[in-house]
Amino acid sequence: MVTDVNQKPGQEAVRQIPAGLKPFWEQTVREFVSLSEAPIDPPMQERHRIYSLLLMAIIFDQWNGNKYGDTGDYGQWRADQLLVDSPNIYRGGTYQGHNIAALAVDAEGRVIDYEFNHNDLFDSSVEHAESRLVRRVFALNQIYDPWELDPRNERHKSGPPERQRRRMFATAVTERAERATAREPEVVASGYATLLSDVTVYTSLESCAQCTGIMCLASVKEVIYLQPDDGQFLIGNIMRRATKAQSMGFTSPRPIAGEEIGFEFYRDLAAGNEDFTERVAREPFHTDGVKTARKPSVTSFLCTDSAYQVFERASSRLGESSLEYPDFCPDRPPSALTNRKVLAEAMDFRAYVKSVGNRGTSHRV
Ligand SMILES: [Zn+2]
Repeated sequence: MVTDVNQKPGQEAVRQIPAGLKPFWEQTVREFVSLSEAPIDPPMQERHRIYSLLLMAIIFDQWNGNKYGDTGDYGQWRADQLLVDSPNIYRGGTYQGHNIAALAVDAEGRVIDYEFNHNDLFDSSVEHAESRLVRRVFALNQIYDPWELDPRNERHKSGPPERQRRRMFATAVTERAERATAREPEVVASGYATLLSDVTVYTSLESCAQCTGIMCLASVKEVIYLQPDDGQFLIGNIMRRATKAQSMGFTSPRPIAGEEIGFEFYRDLAAGNEDFTERVAREPFHTDGVKTARKPSVTSFLCTDSAYQVFERASSRLGESSLEYPDFCPDRPPSALTNRKVLAEAMDFRAYVKSVGNRGTSHRV
């Protein structure tokens, strides 16, 4: 058996197979990417669906399909988004980034924050929603500075320990992490390592390698994605399997596809993108008379009327949600919200985001 990554027959092994890959070394790719996680109970599925609807509603409220500008010709792909019919001008104004967003929720069920893709705003291919969100949540926690708790402060008496300085999110460090801290005091020194360990990220499109990597290093608990993206080659599954098979101190978040939480719009978005991919070579997505866009691209699909309509349906569903498990709440933490309160939280957060009107976080810093 080969024991070295680059070993040729007859050569001596130099580099051992990394622990995270060893159990899978002789397996098929299919076996490697297949996750064996516990199924999600129906009441928890309902909870996840509420945040998923909220995320789609936030995107719908801030919709901008002008990937190649608000003029030119998007053909029949965006006929419903035409503002002026000749010359063609489309709704949405300046394109800041793709119609992709992510939402972070803590263990109690409270929304921490959300972010959009801002590739165009920053003229960059890495300003993705999940990576922006994770950096933002860390930054928010750093801004939070409860100086009364600092032992260096003269007025400090016998307040909570130093590590609580890092606990902006009331439930981010659970009893589980507290116990771990008691056993391994060095965890205190790296509070950021566990800060997001109870945070769930909802993302409207399956995460790329960058975002999976950032969420893995941030110890995000799980990531629920509302549309598959084959272009990311199941990197979330790969990272999950490899990190769980080793003991390096961090585990990639469990990727959860929308279908695992019974989210009907997952199928609609997947089918819509498949249809777009199949037709776009024959029916160009956009032309400005000089350049014509014919390449299949999921971010182009996310500008089309067909995608818009799915987001519209999801956003109106949020307001109509009738709950099967209104009194459900997870066992931990004891302060967790019920599904009924989660729905109220989601509706309130949507209204708040709408009232502020920013495409991206509602905070100004
Ligand atoms: Zn990404």
